[in-house]
Order: sequence, then C-alpha cells, then structure tokens
Amino acid sequence: MMAQSKALLVLENFIGGKFIPCSSYIDSYNPSTGDVYCKVPDSGKEEVEAAVKAAKDAFPIWSSKSPLERSQILTKLAYLIEHDLEAFAQAESKDQGKTITFARTVDIPRAAYNFRFFASSILHHVTECTEMTTMGCVHYTSRAPVGVAGLISPWNLPLYLLTWKIAPAIACGNTVVAKPSEMTSVTAWMMCKLLEKAGVPHGVVNIVFGTGAKAGEALVCHPDVPLISFTGSTLTAQRIMEKSAPHCKRLSLELGGKNPAIIFDDADLSQCIPTTLRSSFANQGEICLCTSRIFVQRGIYSEFLKRFVAEAKKWKTGNPSDPTVDVGALISKEHLEKVRNYVKKAQAEGARVLCGEGVDALDLPPGNQKGYFMLPTVIAEVKDESCCMQEEIFGPVTCVVVFDTEEEVIKRANSVKYGLAATVWSSDVGRVHRVAHRLQSGLVWTNCWLVRDLNLPFGGMKASGIGREGAKDSYEFFTEVKTITIKH
Ligand code: NAD
Repeated sequence: MMAQSKALLVLENFIGGKFIPCSSYIDSYNPSTGDVYCKVPDSGKEEVEAAVKAAKDAFPIWSSKSPLERSQILTKLAYLIEHDLEAFAQAESKDQGKTITFARTVDIPRAAYNFRFFASSILHHVTECTEMTTMGCVHYTSRAPVGVAGLISPWNLPLYLLTWKIAPAIACGNTVVAKPSEMTSVTAWMMCKLLEKAGVPHGVVNIVFGTGAKAGEALVCHPDVPLISFTGSTLTAQRIMEKSAPHCKRLSLELGGKNPAIIFDDADLSQCIPTTLRSSFANQGEICLCTSRIFVQRGIYSEFLKRFVAEAKKWKTGNPSDPTVDVGALISKEHLEKVRNYVKKAQAEGARVLCGEGVDALDLPPGNQKGYFMLPTVIAEVKDESCCMQEEIFGPVTCVVVFDTEEEVIKRANSVKYGLAATVWSSDVGRVHRVAHRLQSGLVWTNCWLVRDLNLPFGGMKASGIGREGAKDSYEFFTEVKTITIKH
C-alpha cells in the first residue's frame, strides 16, 4: 500500500480496488517549505485505460443497487472521513499550503458532508408524470445512471472539490475515474484506503494520478467515458471542450471568477469589513469565489479603505500548521511569481499598493523561508480595464475602487468576461434585490459570503462555466432521462 522511499511519500493509483504502482512519478512540493516531499504517479493512457475498464466492469452491479443501498455506503464513507478528520486536515495543509485551521474547519468537514449530503438527497428525487386523458395516455420520466464518469479537479480545495463530484456521481449509480490535481493528490489517495471499509465495491471509484496533459487528456478523450465533470481554469476548459467534441460528451464545467463586492453607503461595515477580508484572503485568495474587485460607494470610501487596510495588516502570514496563522503558502513557486507580477503591473500602471506585497515585510519562521508566501495585498486606484481588474489572479490580492451610483456599479461589475460570484452590501432590501437580479453572476450573496445550501444550483455564467451542480442539478447531470408513454 503506502510505500516510503528516502522518506518521501510515494502515491499509487487506485484501480479496481487495488493500489497499483506507476512506472514514472512527478515531484510534489510542500508549499510551505519548498521541499519535495511526495511522489505522484505520472499516469497516462495505459493507466487511464485500466481504470476505465475497472469502472466499466463495476457498473452493472453498482448501477443495479437501490438508492438506499448506495446511500448507506456513502454515509459510512462520510463517517470514516470524519473519524480521520485530523489526519486528513494535516495532510491537506501540508500538501496544499493552506492553514491547518482552514483544512480542519472547511475542507475536510465539507468533504465528509458531500458524501452525507448526496447519501440523503439521492433518496428524495421524484420523476415527472403527466396524463393525456384525451389520448388515453400517461407519460412519465425515468432516470438512469450514465456509465463511467470522468472527474477532474483542481488544487485549491483538493478533497472538498473532488468529493463534490464523486459523491453525486456514485450516488446516482455511475462508476468513476477521477483525476485530482497533480499538485495536491495526497488526500484523494488517503480516501482510497477507506473505500473498501465503507463498502464501496471494487472498481466503483478509481483514482488515476498525474498531469492534465497526460492523464487528464487521456480521460477526456476516452471513448467509454461519456461525461466529464471538470473544475479548474477557463483555459483548460476550452481545451477539454475541444478534445471531447468528437465524442459529443456531456460536460459540466466549473471555472474561474473575477468576483465583485459592491458596498453601498448604507452597508453595516462592522459585518462587511471582516466578511470582505475573508472573501478576499481566505485560503490565500485561492478560492474561485474569492472577491478581487471591491466597489465602494463614495460616501464611505475613505473610511472603508482605512479600516479594511488596517484589518488586512493584522492577518498573520506564516507556517500553515500554526493554528494562529491566517494566511498559509501559495500552491507553487510559479503561481507565487504570477500573483506577484500582477501587483507589479498594477504599480506600473499607477495604482497604489496600500499593504502587503512590496510594502510590508514578511516575517517567516526559519523553516519556512523557502516557502511560497505572500502577504494580503490591497491595491487602490486601479483602472477598470487594468489586468488586475479583468483577469483572475487567484491569490491574496484585492483591488478597491470607488463608485457613485447603482446604475454605474452594476455596469462596471458586469464588465468582465467572468460571472461566478458577487457580494452586495446594503441595508436597503429593495436595492439588494434589484442589484442581485441585474448582476451577471451565478451566485450573489447579499450581506454575507460563502453561505451555501447544497440543495441549490452552484456554478457560473459567461466564462465562469457551463452547467450547474447541486442536489437536483448534479442528479440531472449524472443521470440520463427517458420519457415513457403508456397508452391504456
Ligand atoms: P487547471 O485548469 O490548471 O487544472 C485543473 C485540473 O485539470 C487539474 O487536475 C489538471 O491536472 C487538469 N488538467 C489540466 N490540463 C488538462 C487537460 N488538457 N485535459 C484534462 N485535464 C487537464 O486549474 P488549477 O490551476 O488546478 O485550479 C485553479 C482554477 O480552478 C482557477 O481558475 C479557479 O477559479 C478554478 N476553480 C473553479 C471552481 C468553481 O467551482 N468554479 C472551484 C475551484 C477552482
């Protein structure tokens, strides 16, 4: 099972219920130290082929189980993840760079809850029925699992987002081949060790580790995988659409964002400021739902900026395993460079960096000097057309700009290619409804952020995605519907 070589953690693919070594491996780094600590299989066509075969073989038995039988297994898996919560949280923090507090309170509880939630929701779907008395007919719909689902997930919320796909896929009776990000594969591998104990039959969940270009594309191009659920960048989604087009695959695409926060003069700043700090900097700003454009109405602009920057400076950046730390390490050296470059570009364009990168000094423990750290950074006076206001930065950087009218801010908030999530802050109920309706955004939170009911659709408009996920939406995506007409 778990192999150790020169104290490195060596992962293996999980195919047909067995851990299988790979012929070549990729280095995986601990972002908080910069050290290689893990070897991840560099899988390709051959491994994907074996995994798809195992999933195909398992499909007849798994798909013929009742929803209740599947539900019981998913519930057991949720329990087993919760039981090992601390070990999973430690592993996620080490692998991804996120703080141990975030992993303990967000990532792993939600990964377990994904199984618990879909174990329950699968029991409550009803299909449709209509009567056509003049023709002596009743029509009804029936839903069946599609087959082998290909699931591809990113590095920012590794187990959280992978289980958000695995849980509904298998609850509906599909079998799966999943490929987590090559940069954060450890918790997926740990979960494989629990599958048998939970009662998941061999071949129902197969995990193939490796890069997007090799393992990911082999999965996307496999003719026996009729649907792909993908979460990641818009650029990768374009490639997946191209590659899957010859097979007419069903796609669910959850992509990037450039999310606005709109703060009106009558906002309750005592709630708004701490929440907008979280929405900007939680998980190092590496959440697709993070705020990166803050529009503040003129009457409170100066006060907001002063208080917001003062609070941002209090966020502690450092060793992710220290429970008092608020900001951990970014995922990689390359990503850190990319995020830093955005700040430099903003400065070159005349924007003012009020705190963080280039302004304040990092104070890191000796063991973390080579880690990929960056302070929460607030930029003001940025032009709407600047790349910092248009492109997804995906780091602890947020831009604050001023606005005057409701009409103006809606137009400016909508003037990006993305449309994933927005927040609106005002104590005028009429206004929050009006603004929420006009924002081009799959999710709008008013006077809050990241409050989720998994029953309801999740997903983005425009370049932020295609399709929605959630109780009913995932059920519809992971099943094929048929209309049956009976004449009596
Ligand atoms: P990415 O697109 O680089 O990679 C995502 C996954 O796709 C990885 O597993 C990767 O190996 C794989 N992949 C890469 N190239 C591939 C290819 N050609 N074929 C098949 N698979 C391929 O994204 P990332 O950098 O890992 O994650 C960050 C991005 O994800 C950000 O844009 C972020 O906004 C987005 N994201 C979106 C949501 C959402 O729900 N909308 C949630 C989290 C992250």
